[in-house]
Amino acid sequence: SPLIGVLALQGDVREHVRALEAIGARTMLVRTRAHIDEVDGLILPGGESSVIDKLARAFGLQDPIRRAIADGLPVYGTCAGMILLADRIVDGIVGQQSFGGVDMAVRRNAFGGQTESFETTLEAPAIGGAPVTAVFIRAPVVEESGPLVETVAHLPDGRAVAVRQGNLLATAFHPEVTEEHRFHEMFLAIVRSHVDGGDGTGARAPL
Ligand code: GLN
Repeated sequence: SPLIGVLALQGDVREHVRALEAIGARTMLVRTRAHIDEVDGLILPGGESSVIDKLARAFGLQDPIRRAIADGLPVYGTCAGMILLADRIVDGIVGQQSFGGVDMAVRRNAFGGQTESFETTLEAPAIGGAPVTAVFIRAPVVEESGPLVETVAHLPDGRAVAVRQGNLLATAFHPEVTEEHRFHEMFLAIVRSHVDGGDGTGARAPL
């Protein structure tokens, strides 16, 4: 089965490892450039995006991750990870950068005050079946997105909180802290088709 890396600089790394193991993926903690070359897919966990950004730059991982994304590596980001996949950050800290890859603007800490953390039910037709129980913790929201960005789940008011663009998947909430495995399954399917060379992006088309 594919080898999925979890970027292990800060955040809820263990929860992702557990979720991946529950669906039968092999996992690896990613902390170096060499690790990035080994994995078939990469998860950017929840945590604090500005801290993960700073550590990634300090460890020389920003460029390799950007290059891997440009080369078509499947990446799934939850919460802070969604922010790290956004081409544009709204309300980032001064100097905060992202890896980018998804043509969207994401607002950090979009839910203020009493709704800083909440659990809600989402409609997510793209993953089929039952509605999603989603846990939001100082979560971001997608404010605007380009034509290549597909909404996978949205709030009742229509705002996107799960999106996909090619091999990149991002959720504002944390399926890794609930028994909701369908997003990790969807990611694994993206990874499998990329490994097989059938993802349609041509990123790894045979030479
Ligand atoms: N507010 C955090 C950030 O800006 C994200 C919170 C989370 O990942 N639960 O990165």
